[in-house]
Amino acid sequence: MILVVGHKNPDSDSICSALVAEALLKARGLEAKAIRQGEINRETQFILEKAGMDKPELRTEVAGENIWLVDYSDLAQGPDDIAQAEILGIVDHHRLGDVTTTNPLEAWIWPVGCTSTILFNLFKMENAEITRPIATLMLSAILSDTVGFASPTCTDKDKQAVAELAPLAGVEDLDAFIKNLLIAKTDIEGLTPAELVEKDLKAYPFNDRQVIVGQVELATMDQVADQIDALEADLERRCSEESLAFAALMLTDITTSTTRLLYKGEWSSKIDAHAESGVLIMENTLSRKKQGWPWLQGVLA
Ligand code: MN
Ligand code: MN
Repeated sequence: MILVVGHKNPDSDSICSALVAEALLKARGLEAKAIRQGEINRETQFILEKAGMDKPELRTEVAGENIWLVDYSDLAQGPDDIAQAEILGIVDHHRLGDVTTTNPLEAWIWPVGCTSTILFNLFKMENAEITRPIATLMLSAILSDTVGFASPTCTDKDKQAVAELAPLAGVEDLDAFIKNLLIAKTDIEGLTPAELVEKDLKAYPFNDRQVIVGQVELATMDQVADQIDALEADLERRCSEESLAFAALMLTDITTSTTRLLYKGEWSSKIDAHAESGVLIMENTLSRKKQGWPWLQGVLA
């Protein structure tokens, strides 16, 4: 049995690609099962309903198991006991992380917009059948990760995959599908400041210290206008409780590709010079992976 597990704080790609990789392994005649390391978000819920699929089982212990990783290769983003598991496969579209293995593994790491784009090509290579639910999962994951093709992480391979997957998923009006997906993606109604910070939070070990960077994707900045103080207070609390050197939250308006960065912690002074009256606006910034975090690494170094 191979357990397929996406990263902590799972986004739609981590959930969908785990289910898709399970299907790929089963098509190879292997036993496989997707699991998840945390609660699913509203966008993922929307996608699973469209696909008619159940969410993977919540499971955070993998000691003694054979596992595949999807959508990451950093130990910090894996289950806490990942060192006691045997990693047999990685499918990912991020920079290579610090995972190591004792035995040879199968690794598919491509610089594309979504893990599902790689999985789609593996399905094609292996002539494996792509059912309608699986096509829906891959299509949605790609459109989520690339923010409907708008992200600078989006490549021709992602667009090609969507063009081939839309008919397989039975999606006739792609623009309407994208619009509804992005409405679900930016639905933050009723979430507390702590839930907003945690919504898509990633930990980055940096210069022997811990840094966290969250991101909230919005249809308009007005959605968080009256929560700025509370969000900053939550970042501050995490810094002291978790001994972080730096905690930041990217508030990203996906309609204008504008990000406002909230930040706290002892390294904050390194960032202050880039802010105006305490407000740091990053123009043309949609992607944490390709824009937000690389910029921060440069300034925090
Ligand atoms: Mn992800
Ligand atoms: Mn991804």
